[in-house]
Amino acid sequence: MDRTNEILKSIGEKCTEQRRLILKAILELAKPVSADEVYEYLSDTNSVGRTTVYRTLELFEQKKLVRRVIFRDGIMRYESTHLGHHHHLICLSCGKVFPIESCTIVSLDESIIDEFDFLVTEHFLELYGYCKNCRKGEKK
Ligand SMILES: [Zn+2]
Ligand SMILES: [Zn+2]
Repeated sequence: MDRTNEILKSIGEKCTEQRRLILKAILELAKPVSADEVYEYLSDTNSVGRTTVYRTLELFEQKKLVRRVIFRDGIMRYESTHLGHHHHLICLSCGKVFPIESCTIVSLDESIIDEFDFLVTEHFLELYGYCKNCRKGEKK
């Protein structure tokens, strides 16, 4: 069964078809996506306008269904908060994003409270470089 109805109900919002589609897209894409990418993804359905995508993603962010992710290109992207804590590897050549589940920074957070008496509650880390495919291309 489709989880989107349940999730929308859990945040106390009406389950409109458009909201369901947008949430479904975010869950299916399972990576940071811009509003435009969500719009493109749903363009086949022909039922969600670009403005609706923008507004709905803002609503989802307020309701903590998605979090904002901004890479150095400055484009605002959103990803599902259901994915849990993770980081990203971003290829500077093809733009592909690879999620990494492991977080080694937690130990840094812990040492900071001792060293600086500062309590870290969140951190973001994106690593930039070149993926396997793009490095192959360079050698040619
Ligand atoms: Zn690449
Ligand atoms: Zn982390």
